[in-house]
Amino acid sequence: MRKNIVAGNWKMNKNLQEGLALATELNDILSSAKPNCEVVIGTPFIHLAKVVEAVNTDTIKVSAQNCADKVSGAYTGEISAEMVKSTGATHVILGHSERRAYYGETAEILKEKVELALANGLTPIFCIGEVLEERESGKHFDVVKAQISESLFGLSTEDFGKIVLAYEPVWAIGTGKTASPEQAQEIHAFIRQTVADKYGKEVADNTSILYGGSCKPSNAKELFSNPDVDGGLIGGASLKAEDFKGIIDAF
Ligand code: PEP
Repeated sequence: MRKNIVAGNWKMNKNLQEGLALATELNDILSSAKPNCEVVIGTPFIHLAKVVEAVNTDTIKVSAQNCADKVSGAYTGEISAEMVKSTGATHVILGHSERRAYYGETAEILKEKVELALANGLTPIFCIGEVLEERESGKHFDVVKAQISESLFGLSTEDFGKIVLAYEPVWAIGTGKTASPEQAQEIHAFIRQTVADKYGKEVADNTSILYGGSCKPSNAKELFSNPDVDGGLIGGASLKAEDFKGIIDAF
């Protein structure tokens, strides 16, 4: 059966020392109070190797927030999936709306990234979600369906089975506005059905679909209690160990 997962996305926050302090604090908290879900922290690239050393990776998995769409070579400033893997990280967040909006990541580029992540044994946490205008005009179902099918539906059934999906309505990210539990359940069920239509019910039932967008300790339980919401991708509230723990405790 699918896993419940709480994954943090630190974005471009915390220098190395601050990041290590946060990871260590979280590790200490979770070693005395074992979580009832898988916990992942998505750190900046430069933190990965050190954070992997600082935490018990049986309890806290470590994730990058991106990887290159090329294998290796003359791509100044890029970090390959193989490099991410060599740090001991096990996951990579791909297709975050900030990467799509600010760095021009298209469905085609993301398809390459997903394939390279999988080829290197990383678990992609693949983000999808509509902007406010799309939600208000009722296009959100079509938008997420296209995002999934264009970047992921070329995968074999076996490879698709390794993907974690994160539904993140762009209008809820960092805005303090959260999708209602009903809105989250409605679209998560739609996403699961979209996966079932392509890969079958068993694969769909085994796919973890996380919710992201202003999730915090006070609303996590209500969101995660929906049958098709299997946890959260957490931005702001993952930057404080106590808040992140409060969300983990929703399970
Ligand atoms: C995110 O960016 O993935 C996110 C969910 O951010 P926040 O929790 O801050 O809305």
